[in-house]
This record gives sequence, structure tokens and C-alpha cells, in this order.
Amino acid sequence: MPTYKAPLRDMRFLLKDVLNAEAALSELPYYTQHETHSADLADQILDEAARFASNVIQPLNASGDAEGCTVQGGVVTTPAGFKEAFKQYAAAGWTGLDGDPEYGGQGVPHVIGNAVSEMMIAANVAWSMYPGLSHGAYTALKAYASDETKNIYLPKLLTGEWTGTMCLTEPHCGTDLGLLRTKAVDNNDGTYSLSGTKIFISAGEHDFADNIVHLVLARIEGAPAGTKGISLFLVPKFMVNPDGSLGERNPVVCASLEHKMGIKANATAVLNFDGAKGILVGQANRGMQAMFIMMNGARLGTGMQGLGLGEVAYQNALAYAKDRIQMRHEPRITPAEAADPIIGYPDVRRMLMTVKAYNEGARALAMWLALQIDVEHHHPDAGKREEAADIVALLTPVAKAFMTDNGFTNTVMAQQVFGGHGYIREWGMEQYVRDARIGQIYEGTNGIQALDLLGRKVLGDGGKKLQKLSSLLTAFVEENEGNEELESMLEVLGKAAQQAGTLTMVIGQKAMQNPDEANAAAVDYLRYIGHVTYAYLFAVMSKAALEQIVLGNDRDGFYRAKVQTAQFYYAKLFPETKTLAATIKAGNGPMQVDDAAMFGVERPLVTA
Ligand SMILES: Cc1cc2nc3c(=O)[nH]c(=O)nc-3n(C[C@H](O)[C@H](O)[C@H](O)COP(=O)(O)OP(=O)(O)OC[C@H]3O[C@@H](n4cnc5c(N)ncnc54)[C@H](O)[C@@H]3O)c2cc1C
Repeated sequence: MPTYKAPLRDMRFLLKDVLNAEAALSELPYYTQHETHSADLADQILDEAARFASNVIQPLNASGDAEGCTVQGGVVTTPAGFKEAFKQYAAAGWTGLDGDPEYGGQGVPHVIGNAVSEMMIAANVAWSMYPGLSHGAYTALKAYASDETKNIYLPKLLTGEWTGTMCLTEPHCGTDLGLLRTKAVDNNDGTYSLSGTKIFISAGEHDFADNIVHLVLARIEGAPAGTKGISLFLVPKFMVNPDGSLGERNPVVCASLEHKMGIKANATAVLNFDGAKGILVGQANRGMQAMFIMMNGARLGTGMQGLGLGEVAYQNALAYAKDRIQMRHEPRITPAEAADPIIGYPDVRRMLMTVKAYNEGARALAMWLALQIDVEHHHPDAGKREEAADIVALLTPVAKAFMTDNGFTNTVMAQQVFGGHGYIREWGMEQYVRDARIGQIYEGTNGIQALDLLGRKVLGDGGKKLQKLSSLLTAFVEENEGNEELESMLEVLGKAAQQAGTLTMVIGQKAMQNPDEANAAAVDYLRYIGHVTYAYLFAVMSKAALEQIVLGNDRDGFYRAKVQTAQFYYAKLFPETKTLAATIKAGNGPMQVDDAAMFGVERPLVTA
């Protein structure tokens, strides 16, 4: 059975040596006023969370997968131990960790909350989605609900008495929400009646909490077609009286649960709304804007699933590689044994170091972005808030897609280290592969993330946000000129910043002639930007680690390993950008084929 130990050393390295989070958070009065900005408090929280993840959540991971969720008469039962663990989690205050103290939260910075969520995900991703979705609902309501609604709902979400969901997808539409049909009829008493079917709703029905707060996209009768006619509604499972007590059961019913490849312990529900009462959140017909708050958070959260699963898969593959003996290494590593440990072979080291490097790049990106989110929301200087918001907007699709694509291949690679045993259930590695796959699909497929990055975030604003990322890279290169130990990384980084600009221009020019050119290049482009971002972060991490080595602080070898991981990344993983640059330049041409010959269709689908 797999085990999990939170990577506290790496988290602390990022918080202290790389991001200097305490100093950054000290500039944010929201946190200083609640006294939640200190490194000491962060240390205590991380220690406690690590214990909870390993001792309470992780032991339920394999059993939850084997048992799954069941539904009978609309009532969902989650696997043994799940709801008790959630009660324990809520009672210990974790559900309100980074919530606003005005509503009963603890006001802990998002950057710390994000590290805690990595641990819960790694320990048990299916379980972690129940509090994860609630957190998303809390964020959207906090941003867009009326004060009255906030006063009733936010404290209950933060205590974990109630949980939340995100109801977008319908049988005929997932990516294209403009097609959605769920209808809302105005009751002219401040409520609407919603009718329709939502599918694939994570944590859509369960036995964790007294009430479930569904955030639902629907079209008010008579509203325009497309995304401009969509509104956001709050539809509780049980109606809520003005004093917060629970009223009658609302007709929103779980018709069935999906049978799926992974995350089996998370209830993925088909929900029928049959005149269910809801209240409007934000303005009518502006629902997509309000839902984007939740979706952006959820996209980063999904990226974290790639990281968490990659990390736990790595830890177990590493332990196995040290233990498993096969064949004889030259020179012998363990001459007294019949064979040598597989960790001695370069190909096994390649797999382990690839997974480790992608995990550490992902953690650096996630922590950096989480801190930028803190700055975006709470910095007193509007200019600083805007800078942070631009980086978060640009890199949210990158974090979602690059982290989950790498997360999935990481679990596969870690499974490969186990040879045939990786394919056998009792080792737990095949569960990680199955659980990681969904990250590439939901919250907007990774293809759609790529279109968001290239179309909206880069070409859509004339490259302004991309320029901010490039400026960070070039500033780092200039500041560190002459630093011999960083020299080779700086050379690569400087060229990468330039090439990112050139590639963007090439695509932009082609896309002006034919919009399909952007669609054709987007996935490779996102991967390219992902690599450039990780290369920047590995250079920053190397600098911080080298400084600690000079100070004589490398007793456990952590900093040396960090620099060597960065060097491995630059030598073995970053060169993929050469292929990506070539495939980006190849453009849409190779897909413009004879549709009849290639796809067996009579009529050309796309005119060249
Ligand atoms: C386990 C699970 C849990 C989920 N949880 C939730 C949840 O809690 N709430 C919720 O609302 N939804 C949820 N979803 C739904 C999920 O977000 C959607 O499945 C996903 O966004 C894709 O939509 P779709 O399945 O309709 O695929 P489609 O939109 O039909 O897409 C099919 C393919 O076409 C591609 N494609 C579509 N349009 C374009 C385009 N313009 N250019 C290029 N390629 C395109 C897509 O990338 C994809 O590869 C969940 C799904 C699953 C499987």
C-alpha cells in the first residue's frame, strides 16, 4: 500500500528562501491585521496539515477507491470513513482556513491554504474534492452574492456544516456553455424556479453535510441565446429560512452517479432540477462572469491535483526503486546481494528525476501564483494588484493544463518504475494513474485552457500580459549577469524569452489570415510557455539554493539536490521546447487534408 509524507522541506524552501512570503505578506494589511502573515504560524499550520493528511485522509484512499459511492432513491452514501474524516477536518477548522474572519474564517493567506490543499489532494484526491468544491462556492458567493446571502451562507460553508457545488455541464454541452438549456422562471418574490438537468456534478450529492449549496448556471426565460443570456443561481438542497435554519427539501435530486475511470470516491452526480427554488447571484445575464471566479480557483485547484498525485506517486516509486533489486550494475552497488537496486540504473533515475523535476516546478509555480493571488486581492497599491492580477490571469490556464498533463505522465512514469507490480492494484500506483487522468479533462479540457491562454490572454490583449512574464525573465537574467554558477541557465532563459515573443508573433500573423491557425498551435504553445515558466522558476530556485550552500546551510544536501534537479530540468526536459517551436511553426497546414480520404466524409468539413 502506498504511503504519503508531505514535502514540508520543499514547501518551506519555497516560502522562505525563494518567495520570502513573510515579508511579502507583511505588506498586506488584511493579513497583518489578523496576524496571519508570520512564518511561524505557517510552519505550525503546515505541520498540522501534514499530520492530518497522512494519518486521517491517506488511509482512506485505496479503500475509498475500492468501495466508491452508491446512490439509492436519490440518497448518496460515500465510502466508509469519508464523512467522519470530513467532520474531523471541519471541527479542526480546516474548512475555514483561508476564509474571511468576518464570516468565521481564520484569514490565513491563500499561499498557505494552497500548500495545505496540495497535501489533502496527494493523500486522497477524491476526498479532497468535497472541501475543494465548497471553497470554490464560498469564493464565488463572497465576490458576487448580496450581503444578506453572504451572512447566511458563508459562515456555514466555512464551518463545513454545508458544502458547495458547481453546476455548469449539461448532457449536450460542456465546453460550449452558451448552449445550456436549464431554465429559470422568475417567481416575482425574489426567487426563481429552475428546471433542467446538470450532469457530471462533482460532490453533487453526499452524506457529509446538512445542506448542499449548488451554484447553477441557467437561462432566465426570455434571456438572449448564447453566453450573454446566462445567469448564476444559488439553489440549496434544503431551503434556508431567514434565520439560517433549514426549511423544506428543494426539488433538486440526484438521479444517478457516474461510473468512472478514477476519483471513484467522489460522487459525480446527475442532478435533476424540477422547479427547484433558487436566488440570483450577481446580475441577471452576467452569470459567466460570476462563475469565472469559481472556475479560475477550480482551475488552479485542478492543476494542484496534477502536482499532488505526481508527488505521492514519486514518493512511492522512489521507495520501490531503492528496495527492488534486479540485474547487476557495473560496478556492483550491493555485491552481497544477488542483484542491485534498480535506482542505480540511469533509465530508472531518468524516470524518477523527471517526475521529481516536474513536481518541483509545479510546486514553485503553484506557490508563486498563490502568493500573487494574495497580492492581487489585498495589496494597498493598485499598481501592484494589477501586476499580480495579470500574472495570475496569464498563468492560470498554464497551471491547470501543464500541471495536469505532467501530473498524468508523472503517475504513469512512477508506475513504470514498479514494472509489472505497478499494474497490480495492491501497490496503489494504477489508482494514481486513473485518478490523475481526469485533471486533463474537467474544468475545461486542456485544449480549451490552451485556447484561453493563446486567444484571450495573449493575442486578446496584444501580448501585454505575456510581456510582463518576459520582463520578469529578462530582469532576472540582467540582475544575475556574471553569476558563473547560473550562467548556462541565464543563457537559455534569455533566448527563451526572445523566442516566446517571436513564436507569438508568428502565430498572431497567421491567425489574422485564418483563425484556425491559433486553434492548431494552442496546445503546443501552452506547453512551450509552461516550460519557459518552469525554467524561470528553476533558475530562481537555483539562485536561492546556491546562496544557502554558500552560507553553509546545506547539511542535509537539500539545496545541492535542488540545483541538480534544476540542471536536470534544463538538460533533459526543457529541450522539448525545440520540438514545440517546430510544431508550432508547422501550423494548421498538416491538418488541412482531404476530408473524404482522411475521415471518410463526403463533404469537406473545413474549407482550406
Ligand atoms: C469526473 C468528472 C467531474 C466533473 N465535474 C464537474 C462539475 O463539478 N461541474 C460541472 O459543471 N462539470 C463537471 N464536469 C464536466 C467537465 O467540466 C466537462 O466534461 C469538460 O469541460 C468537457 O466538456 P464535454 O465533456 O462536454 O466535452 P466537449 O465540450 O464535448 O468537448 C469534446 C472535445 O472537443 C474539444 N473541443 C470543444 N470545443 C473546441 C474548440 N472550440 N476548439 C478545439 N477543441 C474543442 C474539447 O477540448 C474536447 O477534447 C466533470 C466531468 C467529469 C468527467
